[in-house]
Amino acid sequence: MEVIRLSCNTFAKEFRVSTSRRFEIVSIMHLAEEALKESGIKNGILHAFLPHATAALITNEYEPRVARDYLKWVRTYVPPEADWEHNMIDNNAHAHIASALIGSSRTYPVINGRIVRGAWQELMLLELDGPRNRRVIIQIIGC
Ligand code: ZN
Repeated sequence: MEVIRLSCNTFAKEFRVSTSRRFEIVSIMHLAEEALKESGIKNGILHAFLPHATAALITNEYEPRVARDYLKWVRTYVPPEADWEHNMIDNNAHAHIASALIGSSRTYPVINGRIVRGAWQELMLLELDGPRNRRVIIQIIGC
């Protein structure tokens, strides 16, 4: 098998996203697009990471009704008012649990200078314990 060696790069950029409510959805696809453009990388992968334990990242449709439904799902299946032990500390167990289950990162292919995604796949930050100032790290690895 032939070994192919490419000279590749990494690029990382940190963004700040402020939320204004306890539960909130913020579309951040434009931040990923901005980082990709700035990176100059044409082919590789783009990784979005949220260094927080009480928020999450999802990729799906950013339409107002379904956006409210994502949060409705969280409130239904991880109700904030349930008898969580962690609530004795800072009253946000639901946010920790939902963040752990949903996840803190998303990865996309980058092909020919574009982030590959479906028509209804938008990168979104799910605020589960706001309002807060959140950091979002976009890292791109490629050529
Ligand atoms: Zn906590």
